[in-house]
Amino acid sequence: MHYKRYRGVFLQKCNRCNASFHWGQIYKSFWWSYKPIKCKECGTVHKIRISGRFIFVSLTILPMLIFGYFFSPFNNSFLTLGAAICILIIGSIFALFFVRYKES
Ligand SMILES: [Zn+2]
Repeated sequence: MHYKRYRGVFLQKCNRCNASFHWGQIYKSFWWSYKPIKCKECGTVHKIRISGRFIFVSLTILPMLIFGYFFSPFNNSFLTLGAAICILIIGSIFALFFVRYKES
């Protein structure tokens, strides 16, 4: 399989030199209040698009709140919290493939 090619299709690339960002760079950016990402190859700084912020929130915070308020199947609040954190982590992994950055 052309794994590398497919990975390139989905993960954000540098707008200037086309080098793929590492998923860890993007993931860290999410949790540091959308910290700009610097390309390791050419040093170009990329900022998150406004749409990217909406995508991130709608994949993480939103499903977590919906789950917490409306669909919580557990009486145990620790279990609810654990499930909410799982949703947050899974949502943020999905967000890696949908949130886009632009050259600043
Ligand atoms: Zn670059």
